[in-house]
Amino acid sequence: MTRMMQTTARAGMLCVLLAANGGLAFAAACPGPAGFSAWLQKFKQQAIAQGISPETVSTALDGLAYDPATIAKDRGQGVFAQTFAQFSGRMVSANRMQMGSALLKKNADTFARIEQEYGVPGPVLVAFWGLETDFGKVMGNLETLRSLATLSYDCRRPQEFQEQLLYALRVIERGDLSPPEMRGPAHGEVGQFQFQPKNYFEHAVDFDGDGRRDLIRSAPDSLASAANYLQSIGWKAKQPWLEQVRVPADLPWQEADVTIKKPLAFWAQHGVTYLNGKTLPADDVPVGLVLPMGRNGPAFLAYPNFDIYLEWNKSLVYCTTAAYYATRLAGGPVLSKGNGPIEPLTQAQTKELQQLLARQGFDVGKIDGVIGAQTRDAIRTMQVKFGLPADSYPTAELLARMQGQ
Ligand code: CA
Repeated sequence: MTRMMQTTARAGMLCVLLAANGGLAFAAACPGPAGFSAWLQKFKQQAIAQGISPETVSTALDGLAYDPATIAKDRGQGVFAQTFAQFSGRMVSANRMQMGSALLKKNADTFARIEQEYGVPGPVLVAFWGLETDFGKVMGNLETLRSLATLSYDCRRPQEFQEQLLYALRVIERGDLSPPEMRGPAHGEVGQFQFQPKNYFEHAVDFDGDGRRDLIRSAPDSLASAANYLQSIGWKAKQPWLEQVRVPADLPWQEADVTIKKPLAFWAQHGVTYLNGKTLPADDVPVGLVLPMGRNGPAFLAYPNFDIYLEWNKSLVYCTTAAYYATRLAGGPVLSKGNGPIEPLTQAQTKELQQLLARQGFDVGKIDGVIGAQTRDAIRTMQVKFGLPADSYPTAELLARMQGQ
């Protein structure tokens, strides 16, 4: 649920850890710190007009100063992309497997109650927990209200952050957290699952029964709130989310995309099997085939619950990693090496490929070395044109063909 990955379009093959916002181009038109306190006075009046009590507004916002550190973080960071192999290798480490399993065991009763109430299994929650904050250990340390106010005043996305700031005030007014307790990363996410304030206000639950929805210190509150949120956006109980499969050497690769749903029977007919070689059931559950490293890499069936992951975070690499980690915690197999060697393009090569695609008239979005859905579609079209296996995965061969055009 972190903003950093939400800001990008569905990220495809590469994991966007930090969104680039192209700050310099806007810097000249953006207000500096000088006008902040006058703006804050006005905002306080607006918050009161929105029904938040003058006491809460005063406690939360009096004396708040513009935060250059927030702005520096918002502006300064470039795109930093990782492949699925890199990101999942780092995130689903032996250490995280051990910690995740131990937490599942230690809190078995809580997870059972949560699954009963919200239909979301423990491994799914623990995997998000590990990826978001290393199980509540790394939640960010900037003052949330100060960050949100600074970004609300700033010129880039003021409406978005003003809305979040109002929700942060509502969370305070409800008595869930006090202003000094609210600390996090630069964009106002809070707690063990990095909820944005609006989601906090709308989906947080008190699960340990102390009367407060405390997503910072209470693990039961945090886990149940994440489950409540997932259920609210459509998680289906007792249904799978992701499953590793074995793909044959030949497939209609152009059908392999998370956005293209085919009945399980379709994949079974084309020779896709479970990892152990067993036949898939020939039923009509609509599933997508996800190949995060192309046709030679690991392959996954993405079930309807996987779409819920993409609501949580738009990066396909993040989602595939979180969902794979959850399958491992639920007893699933380790990552298969797939069918052959994979040599991912560097970010610079990916940028060059995007430039060449743009020159051919494709809209690939921002030329940033990050493969989103648009770039993936363009790659697939060119692969079909060149008679290459159309798995939407950028290769050196495709780049060479494009350079030769
Ligand atoms: Ca509580």
